[in-house]
Order: sequence, then C-alpha cells, then structure tokens
Amino acid sequence: MIVKQCIFTANGAYKAHKHIKPIGIVVHSTGCNNEMLRRYVQPTSANADYKEIIADLGKNVYNNHLNQEYINGVYNDICMHAFIGKNDKGKVETYQTLPYDYACWGCGSGCKGSFNYDPTAHIQFEICEDGLTDKAYFTNAFNEAIEYCAYLCDKLGLKSESIVSHKEASALGYASAHGDPENWLSRYGKDMDWFRTQVKNKMKKMTADDKTKTIYRVQVGAYANEANAKAFLKKVKKAGFTNAFITKVEV
Ligand SMILES: [Zn+2]
Repeated sequence: MIVKQCIFTANGAYKAHKHIKPIGIVVHSTGCNNEMLRRYVQPTSANADYKEIIADLGKNVYNNHLNQEYINGVYNDICMHAFIGKNDKGKVETYQTLPYDYACWGCGSGCKGSFNYDPTAHIQFEICEDGLTDKAYFTNAFNEAIEYCAYLCDKLGLKSESIVSHKEASALGYASAHGDPENWLSRYGKDMDWFRTQVKNKMKKMTADDKTKTIYRVQVGAYANEANAKAFLKKVKKAGFTNAFITKVEV
C-alpha cells in the first residue's frame, strides 16, 4: 500500500517528542462531516514536499488544519499518527502525520491511564467521516484502514488482536468517552470484531510487495578482467540463472 507523509512538525505533540513503544492500534473516526484530508492535513512551508502535498490534497483555506500549535489562537491539543480520507480528486489516501515512536495526542485518558503513552501506548489514526450515508466511501475508507492496520501490524510486530476502537479503549479505561468509529460501522452492520478479522485475513494474504522489500544478492564469481566476467555471466545465464548480472566494485 502507499502511505504518504506529511509530518506535523508544527504540532505540539511533535515538539514534545515523547518517545513511545506502541503495543497496539486505536482506530478513530473524526465525528465531523468532512471527508477531505486537507481539513486536517497540511504541510508547513518548511516541508520539502510542500508543493506536492498541496497539489495532492488542495489548500485548507480556513487554516484550521492540525499541523499547527495554535488554531486561530486556541492551543491545538490533537495530533494523530495518521489520517485516512479523500484527496483533492476524491481518491481515498493515507497520510502519516507523526513518527510511530512519538506519542500522539489522540484518545485522551480514562480511569486506568492513557493509550497515548507508555507502557500502554498505541498508534492512533483517524478516518475522516462524511455524512455517514455514502456506502461507497465507507467501503473505500475502511478498506484503506484495514490495509493500513495490516501494514502497521507487520511493520511494528503487532497482532490484529491489539487493534481497538476509541470506544473500546474508553471501555477498557484508557481513553475519553467517545463512540467512534462504531457510530459509523454500525450503520452498515459492522463492528470492531469484523474489522479485526479483516485485518487478520489481510495479513495472511500480504505479498512481498506489501512489505518492505529486501533484495538478497548472491555472488557466484569475481573477475578483474571484464571480458572474463562477461563470459562467465553468459555461462551462468545459460545454466538457467537468467537474473544474473555484473556489478562493478572499485578495488
Ligand atoms: Zn476518537
């Protein structure tokens, strides 16, 4: 999958740089009728990819996005690790907004503690809600979230069982009282057990392309003379090793 980056370097959570070792994932949905990523995600002018990201997401003309310490004079205490929503062309995309070893300001806290911080820190992301009546968007957005969770689990060594909703995190005593994203899932007869099963199935089907690619090189010969190297390559290819190639090493 493609995860684009727009790290919220101007957000207080990034500046606080509280280190975490995530043990799970919290899934949120925004609770506002605005599925456009640009409502929340914008680069600062210091971002090297500024033009590219603005071209992709469009400009937030209200300047109420979350990549700032103060939003119209009010301290911004929200920062997620990622957002899923629509780009300017209406395509569903994932944007990472905080490094995965930084504590986010996501679910708040409950009677037992907070899933924002160690020893119970979780990766947390928002799915941008629309009016909750567009089934095509629901399907696309949650498919993206399922794929993203499978990617995160693989990358961070987490299990699909470690994924909870904000609502579940609250019931466990580690988050503020919210009902997301069950408020959205329930409209289409789905729940978090369904979500976790989808992630588990996705992880089973993950191809090498879904994971970080590692190329292993096998060397079968080394020649100081190029003609000899070429002759040997021909021989190797004839023997069936059609992907063999010559690399030059300065000695
Ligand atoms: Zn939430």
